[in-house]
Amino acid sequence: MKEWVSVIGLEVHLQLKTKTKIWCGCSTEYDKSLPNTHTCPICLGYPGALPKLNKKVLEYAIKAALALNCKINYTSGFDRKNYYYPDTPKNYQITQFEKPYCENGYLDFKLSSGKEIRTRITRIQIEEDAAKNIHSSNETLINFNRSSIPLLEIISDPDLRSSEEAYEYLNTLKSIIKYTKISDVSMELGSLRCDANISVMEKGATVFGQRIEVKNLNSFKGVAKAINYEINRQIEILETGGEIFQETRLWDDNMQVTKLMRSKAEAMDYGYFSEPDLQKLVISEKMIEDIKKDMPESKKDKLERFLKEYQIPEYDIAQLCTDMELADYYEAVVKKSKNPKLSSNWIMSEVMRVLKEQNKNIEELSISANDLGEIIILIDKGIISNKIAKEVFEIKLTDLRSPEEIVSTNNMGQITDLAIIEKMVDKVIESNVKMVEDYQNADEGKKPRVLKGLMGQVIKESKGKANPEIVARLFEEKFKV
Ligand SMILES: [Zn+2]
Repeated sequence: MKEWVSVIGLEVHLQLKTKTKIWCGCSTEYDKSLPNTHTCPICLGYPGALPKLNKKVLEYAIKAALALNCKINYTSGFDRKNYYYPDTPKNYQITQFEKPYCENGYLDFKLSSGKEIRTRITRIQIEEDAAKNIHSSNETLINFNRSSIPLLEIISDPDLRSSEEAYEYLNTLKSIIKYTKISDVSMELGSLRCDANISVMEKGATVFGQRIEVKNLNSFKGVAKAINYEINRQIEILETGGEIFQETRLWDDNMQVTKLMRSKAEAMDYGYFSEPDLQKLVISEKMIEDIKKDMPESKKDKLERFLKEYQIPEYDIAQLCTDMELADYYEAVVKKSKNPKLSSNWIMSEVMRVLKEQNKNIEELSISANDLGEIIILIDKGIISNKIAKEVFEIKLTDLRSPEEIVSTNNMGQITDLAIIEKMVDKVIESNVKMVEDYQNADEGKKPRVLKGLMGQVIKESKGKANPEIVARLFEEKFKV
C-alpha cells in the first residue's frame, strides 16, 4: 500500500472596498444599483480610453502586503493578460504578471490540534475584476458595474498539506484582512474568491505530482470538501495505474464532485505583455511608512494587549478577537462595566447565542455595548441575579428603555429583605420534609447537593429574585439548630 502526500496551493481574490473603481471614477457599488449604471468609456473598455490608477487601491494593496509580511517592490508594473470573453470588453485584463508589487510573505496559523503552521505567500498582485455574466437557460446578460473593480490576488506557495490546513489558512487570512478594513472578505458576497491547486505525490518523493486547478469554490467548507474529493480522485487514478493530466476542474456543490472544465489542450495562451497605457508602479519608503502609521491594530497586537490589559483567559481572548468588531464591542462593554471577565462571559454566551439565532453581525445587535455594560453593573451591585439579568437582556432586545428602567418598572430587582426570604425558606422547609430529612441524613460530601435542591425551591418561589447568598446563609442557620 503506497502512502500519499497531498500538496495544495491557494489563489485568493479579494475585492477591495474602495469607493471608486481601479482605473476610473465610477462607483464600486455594483450590486446595489441597476445593472450597467456605474460605467464609463474606461471600464467599458472603449478604444482610446486611458486608465489611471486609483491611489486608494495602492494604499489598500500596501496594507495587505504589510499584514501578510510581504516584501514590497519599490518598482513594479502592470501587464495585459490577453483573452476574449464577453465579460472582458477590452479583450484583456490588466494585472501584474512580470513583477508584482509585493512578494515573499507568509501567514501563520494554528490547527485545532495546536500544531503551528507557516504558509509562504508567493506574491500578491493588483488587478481588475471582470464584468459579471448572468446566465439563464437561453441568454446571458452582462452587468458592467463590476468591470474594473479593484482586486488583489494572493497566491500561496504549495505549502498546504490537507484540507484542514487550507481551511484554517483561509479563516486566518480572512480574519487578518478584515482587521485591515480593506475588504469585506465575504465569500457569500463574492468579495473573497478562492481557487485551489491540488496534486498528490508518493511519500518521500522530491517532485510534486501534476497539479489540478479547481475553481467555483463558494465557501470555506466547499474548499475543504473539494480538496478532499480531488485528493481521493487523484490517488485512485494513480493507484490503478492511471496518469494525472493538467486540467482545470469545477467544484459542483450539489453533486459534491469536481468536473472537468478544460484540459491542457484547451488551456489559454494569454500572450502577456507590459501595459503600455500605464506608467511603472513606484512605491516610496515614505509611502510605506505613512501607511504603517495608519494601519489599524493587527490581530496579533490586539491579542497581546487584551491579555495584558484585561487578564482574562486566552481562550476568551481568542474568541473575542476572531472579529475586530466583536473585540471593539467587548472593549466598549468593559469600559462601562469595569468587569472584564463577566463582560467576556456575557458576550461569549448570551450575545453570541443571539447573533447566531438572528443570523446577525455584532454591529446589527439591538443591545448596545453601553446597555450590556449597564446590565453587568446591575449584577455586580447585587441588584439583579445572573438569572434575572438574562431576562432583562431578553427584554432589552426589543425594548428601548434602559436596563435600569426595565428592572425598576418590572419590579425585577433582587429581594434582599431577610424577613421576606426567611418566610420563603420556612415554607420550603415545611413542604419538603423528605428533602430536609435527606439533608440531615446525608454525609458531609453529599449535603451541598441536597442544599442546592432546597435553595432552588426558594429561588423558584421568589421567581428568581431572592438573593442566593442570603438564601444559603438562612438554610445553614436553620439546619444548625
Ligand atoms: Zn468607469
